[in-house]
Amino acid sequence: SQESTDLVHMVRERARTRGDAIAYEFEGRQTSFAEFNVRTNRVANALIAMDVKPGERIAYLGKNSDFYFELLMGAMKAKVVMAPVNWRLAGPEIAFIVGDCKAPVLFVGPEFITQVRNIKPQLPDVRTIITTEGGAPEWQDFIAWRDAASGDDPKVAISPKDIAIQLYTSGTTGKPKGAMLSHANFLNLATAGNAAEKPEWNKWTTDDVSLVAMPVFHIGGSGWGVLGIYHGARSVIAREFDPTKVLDFIEQSGVTKLFMVPAAMQFVVRQPRARQVDFSRLKHMLYGASPIPAALLKECIEVFKCGFVQLYGMTETTGTIVALPPEDHVEGLERMRSAGKALPGIELAILDPDGNQLPPRQVGEIATRSGSNMAGYWNLPEATARTLGSDGWLRTGDAGYMDEDGYLYIHDRIKDMIISGGENIYPAEVESAICDHPDVAEAAVIGIPDDKWGEAVKAVVVMKPGKQASATDIINFTRERIAGFKTPKSVDFLEALPRNPSGKILRRNLREPYWAGKDRQVN
Ligand code: ATP
Ligand code: MG
Repeated sequence: SQESTDLVHMVRERARTRGDAIAYEFEGRQTSFAEFNVRTNRVANALIAMDVKPGERIAYLGKNSDFYFELLMGAMKAKVVMAPVNWRLAGPEIAFIVGDCKAPVLFVGPEFITQVRNIKPQLPDVRTIITTEGGAPEWQDFIAWRDAASGDDPKVAISPKDIAIQLYTSGTTGKPKGAMLSHANFLNLATAGNAAEKPEWNKWTTDDVSLVAMPVFHIGGSGWGVLGIYHGARSVIAREFDPTKVLDFIEQSGVTKLFMVPAAMQFVVRQPRARQVDFSRLKHMLYGASPIPAALLKECIEVFKCGFVQLYGMTETTGTIVALPPEDHVEGLERMRSAGKALPGIELAILDPDGNQLPPRQVGEIATRSGSNMAGYWNLPEATARTLGSDGWLRTGDAGYMDEDGYLYIHDRIKDMIISGGENIYPAEVESAICDHPDVAEAAVIGIPDDKWGEAVKAVVVMKPGKQASATDIINFTRERIAGFKTPKSVDFLEALPRNPSGKILRRNLREPYWAGKDRQVN
């Protein structure tokens, strides 16, 4: 309901007003809003019975499932905080996150039972392990655990400032950080301005069918799933991203809205049958989380024939703060290269290093102020102070500028900016010039130590199959397109670029061997 100030109230309201409607479906199981309300009550009561205290964290190591959302929102009803863990991480990294949040209870999906058995000695705080789909006789089973508890509302008082989820950042620039997002943060994302101001693409109806195709350990999975429930729509939950299944869901489940990262879109659009799929019910494809190559966007617009919306945001801002609506997706328009405008109710500014706001078209750090800004990072007071600032402006760590109409152009991560001979160079611009070379599949650009220039520009390039341009070819090709000081001084060739699960290039991994034993000045 519009008046909910917390997600627990929202779940109760959905049960009251849309009780019989399907809230979500997962691999043939369908759950109504009324059932969802009762199941989340059971989860809350079961956690309370296990003596998990308000404010404590519970961890989930599993792929997407309906049970995850029952755990997430059931925990909220007991004022317990869910921390979903990135299952692509290695054992020690998983142990780090579970230990970091001191979770007394760990929920484990069927694919990760062996891994958890192996790292069990490194999980000293975990008292109880519960498997979501059985498979481990020594541990409890989720359904039995849930259904042994009462379905009555535990009636724990919730305030909008209470933490609703602890989501770890993607770990593109360093170790993942636990961003604490409150109920108020989610409500701000869901309402983003009043109904009259709301952009057309952001209006939902109860007839909408939303596909949760991105992993729940990212805001693009958990946040997107909560949005569907908030709007009383039906969510179709995909266990994991699978390009052929995305096409199946669009055709067979009548998906009207979905969110994907550009790397995922590329897999879907390149499916041989993509051009035969019936996309008539698909209204909007929302995409973001990393830059999208112009050629890929063009191809997707041709194939999916729906409204495209670019989103910019971060875990720390509960996801979307800036959007480029369908009407600005016009070939040849300058705005096509922009990430869009701030959503209603979200303030955006470009700051210099002293925190002063810069005028249009000057490049600085992108900052934002709104009810979507996180409460802070878990256990990281210094990083929290640095990011949230004392002036209410959250520093994104991204460089960019705004035009006179408030459209945001993202340059790059400030940490990835190269300073060579006193000039600032943004890798994304150089990468995009290199990628125009017909033989290049993908490219990453990094700064490496250089005695004369401080840093020198290096390109790491992946060639298309069967193609082989030389380093000199690539350097000469790039020099014709961008300024000499931005042109790579050297080129490395790789089979593939290191990426995290969101498809973001891990430039720090590429930099590492060159900086061993040296300190890189981070701007
Ligand atoms: P970490 O903070 O751990 O290094 P991360 O920043 O990749 O990881 P997320 O919170 O998932 O973790 O991602 C937010 C970042 O993604 C933004 O700060 C920005 O750099 C990038 N990003 C998001 N949307 C866009 C977009 N539309 N275009 C370009 N980059 C984007
Ligand atoms: Mg980040």
